[in-house]
Amino acid sequence: MTPSAGDGLILRIAPHGESDKLVTWYSPQSGRITAIAKGAQKSKKRFSNKLEPFSQLCLYYRPPRSASGLHFLEDADLIHANIQVRQQYSKYLAACCISELTLCFTRELDADSRIYTMLIWAMAEINRNDRFYKYPLFFHLRLLQLAGYKPDFTTCCRCGNPITEAGSVCLPPQGPSGAALTCGSCRPVQAAEANILSLQTLRMLDFAQHTDLLTLRKLQPSPSCIMEGLDMLQLYSQHLLQTDMHAWRILRRQLMYSH
Ligand SMILES: [Zn+2]
Repeated sequence: MTPSAGDGLILRIAPHGESDKLVTWYSPQSGRITAIAKGAQKSKKRFSNKLEPFSQLCLYYRPPRSASGLHFLEDADLIHANIQVRQQYSKYLAACCISELTLCFTRELDADSRIYTMLIWAMAEINRNDRFYKYPLFFHLRLLQLAGYKPDFTTCCRCGNPITEAGSVCLPPQGPSGAALTCGSCRPVQAAEANILSLQTLRMLDFAQHTDLLTLRKLQPSPSCIMEGLDMLQLYSQHLLQTDMHAWRILRRQLMYSH
């Protein structure tokens, strides 16, 4: 079998049996790949400490022996270690959110190089910035767009009118695909306080959805806008995927302490 090589960002590493590790990364050419790294638990020398979560590496791997099998990771070269992300707890939590979202919204061997670009961008910005909480938000927003679930922050999903005041997240019980936003008049009376988004947040999210990465880097939403936006996207994605995501809850607690 011919070995392959390509860049990738490590999303998850887990022990596998006595001495191996399971490594999952996202690459621009192949998308999400999970491979077994033989002996990686026992011999640190084998990968000379390069196999760390959120590192950007060039990975050398062989295809599985059978259709249902795992790839085999042979070697890796370091491109960016993103060391700060692993050394600062809150940065680590932000990176965990991004990796959890990527694992939820992508499939094995289904590549989208734009998702890789966003991953590399968000990790590098979290790594080098002190004010990094906006990056999990921007990443989530763009990932939804790339996965084909772009939320509309400007139009009410019930009456079709433009939203000109605070809106609220609408999560219809009949199914995940209908998650959207309603205007103030169409908001259900029993809407939870947590589901309500200020007009400022809605405008910021709409702008962030349509601008380039350079502008996103300069954009400085207020902490309350970031929090509202992150809460909204979390609700939206959990409803879409019909699954619980854990990383945001832990990061949220950290965010509350730091403001
Ligand atoms: Zn309405």
